[in-house]
Amino acid sequence: MSFSNLGLSEPLQRAVAAWHYEVPTPIQAEAIPVILKGGDVWASAQTGSGKTAAFALPLVQKLAAARRPDGRFVSALILVPTRELATQVVEAVRRYARYLPQPLKTLVAVGGLSINPQMMALGGGADLLVATPGRLLDLIDHNALSLAEVSVLVLDEADRLLDLGFKAELDRIVGLLPKRRQSLLFSATFPPEVQALAAALLRAPVRIEAPVTEEAAPEILQRVIEVDVPRRTQLLRHLIETNPWSGVLVFVATKYATEHVAEKLGRAGIAAAALHGELSQGARTQALADLKTGKVKVLIATDLVARGIDIPKLPVVVNYDLPRSAVDYTHRIGRTGRAGEAGVAISFVSASTHAHFCLIEKLHGLTLEREQIEGFAPHETEAASPLVAPDGGGIKGRRKSKKDKIREVAARSVGEPVPVRIVSPRPGVGRRAGS
Ligand code: AMP
Repeated sequence: MSFSNLGLSEPLQRAVAAWHYEVPTPIQAEAIPVILKGGDVWASAQTGSGKTAAFALPLVQKLAAARRPDGRFVSALILVPTRELATQVVEAVRRYARYLPQPLKTLVAVGGLSINPQMMALGGGADLLVATPGRLLDLIDHNALSLAEVSVLVLDEADRLLDLGFKAELDRIVGLLPKRRQSLLFSATFPPEVQALAAALLRAPVRIEAPVTEEAAPEILQRVIEVDVPRRTQLLRHLIETNPWSGVLVFVATKYATEHVAEKLGRAGIAAAALHGELSQGARTQALADLKTGKVKVLIATDLVARGIDIPKLPVVVNYDLPRSAVDYTHRIGRTGRAGEAGVAISFVSASTHAHFCLIEKLHGLTLEREQIEGFAPHETEAASPLVAPDGGGIKGRRKSKKDKIREVAARSVGEPVPVRIVSPRPGVGRRAGS
């Protein structure tokens, strides 16, 4: 299979060649011809499968052949859950559109930035708009935009859109779209809520499962290190100082923890930055850019950024706090081992979170070896731990919130093991605990 037999026009093929994409990924091979013919698509695809190009390449080709709407209208709408993903998607679209004879007008509308420039930019319409749902509705309410002429709708990371509580916004947006349109839905997982959304949105969709092929499967070494809760920052520091890692993404449970851990590492002379949803867009973009250029070695992040961020060659992900659900575990560790490169995902497990991690393993059909690192062997017992939840609930040690419960349902709906290849721990990285 090559890009030349998918029906892509010469400018698109040139763009693909300029980006050194030699062969289409499985999802691209299946989705591109269907989308070019105008069919609806229901695709299950992870970040890293090449899903963005799977919808962006044919979309650019269709938009190039269509008339640009004027007034306040847009031809294509891509809905995404986060600002970061919006930026990545629009950058991809612009890359693929680079060799078109007539440029496309592509815009981004996301929260956290002043609305006025986005309103001004929409004047005269646009070929394509990439938006987060809340800001899109704000713009519509300000009369800056009408969805009445949208001919193609893309929902990227539909499961994340619902996880983040955008159901009501999505319903309202869908009600404003024309009935005759092409709809494409991409999601890593298909819990019942996403299935319901797909059923409501799509007409006779072609269902595409991005197969996890040998080449596509990132090689992720999943390590589990036992450590007492108060010693995690020291262990993190020790690991960073004793391993030749060029960049590390550390997941913690709260915004406060991102700042606290980043500050502690900073004091130890390790260039670290916090990344969470309450930072300004500028600060978030800067933190990611600093990691990419190596100015910062460690990013301490909340789950908000677990999906959709394209950080090339990220060698290590650390679960300092465990993810709440099995689905979040998949998304977190998917930040490493991208595009066929080897990666390491390390989870810190303490007495209080041991049972929670066992549940994540069970849901993914995994049994991972426990390691202890010399000098950091745990002493806590479950009863002594400050994080034990009285109701056995979330890992933060409080009662389960509505969101926790939704996440649990989502986690339970994961029937298949995580699409990663498990490789044995390297010798010498630690010894097996206990028995
Ligand atoms: P995505 O799954 O859309 O986040 O894409 C993951 C990464 O794979 C991005 O950095 C893309 O630029 C890259 N990519 C997409 N399609 C291909 C391809 N056919 N060959 C090589 N790399 C690709």
